[in-house]
Amino acid sequence: MQFAIAVDIGGTKATVATIDTAFNVIERREISTGAALDLENALEVATNQVLQATTGDLLGVGIGSAGPLDLAAGTISPVNIPSWRPFAVVDFFRAMTKSENVVLHGDGMAVADAEHQLGAGRGSRNMLGMVVSTGVGGGLILNGNLIAGESGNVSFFGHHSINHTGIKCTCGRVGCVEAYASGPSMVRRACELGWSGDDFISLAESARKADERALQAIDEGAHALAVAIINVAAINDLELVVIGGGVSHAGEVYWEPLMRHIAGESKEISFLHGLKIKKAELLRDSGLLGAALGVLRAQ
Ligand SMILES: [Zn+2]
Repeated sequence: MQFAIAVDIGGTKATVATIDTAFNVIERREISTGAALDLENALEVATNQVLQATTGDLLGVGIGSAGPLDLAAGTISPVNIPSWRPFAVVDFFRAMTKSENVVLHGDGMAVADAEHQLGAGRGSRNMLGMVVSTGVGGGLILNGNLIAGESGNVSFFGHHSINHTGIKCTCGRVGCVEAYASGPSMVRRACELGWSGDDFISLAESARKADERALQAIDEGAHALAVAIINVAAINDLELVVIGGGVSHAGEVYWEPLMRHIAGESKEISFLHGLKIKKAELLRDSGLLGAALGVLRAQ
């Protein structure tokens, strides 16, 4: 059997997995990236564990990481992992696995690639694939091709500003969509309104019970995301947006306001009236499968 190692690095966790050429996940390990621990060591231990549990030929390592990243240098500096400024992730995996075939993508690119090749975006030519969870990220397929951009940071979706006089984001800019539309941002807003709780799952639960503060915070976050989606869809004249990530799994309590605001924001843009919005099909594996595609596509 031939397989790839896939690495999906996000703001709160990183997942390492072995994936075969039919895109089955063979072994996986998760580590926390939020705590102050020796992240490189944890990543090495997890990688060795999945390697030891998998027999066959290693084809290479595909990495999808939260940005920003530098493709030419093979380094990453995820906004939510301050200890990596930067981290030479490509050299790290080359040295550890003795494989020269190490491919780095942005996490939004990986998700867009996976949904386009294997999920809800199959057959589409112009789409945005995105994740809404601890952060907000996205990647673009234009004319059927995955777009990387000059440095690999194309569609740095979460940190485009939707309000230049708005609130300050963890990245340092003002008014980034992530500062309004991520799970933690909606939780923070709900707490300002008097709600108490500490994660998006309980916020969605409160909203389902008609808690006004929870409903308002989710409505505002969904509206911010709708503005951002319509900005990117209009700039790139897209046909499809595929949305995944933890927040998108909250069900109607999130999708009803999101779809309502998308309809409102696109009302005056006639060429977007046919824009399709779909839920991601690959769910929690889209980042991993997209990372693996960097290696397995050519097989
Ligand atoms: Zn930002």
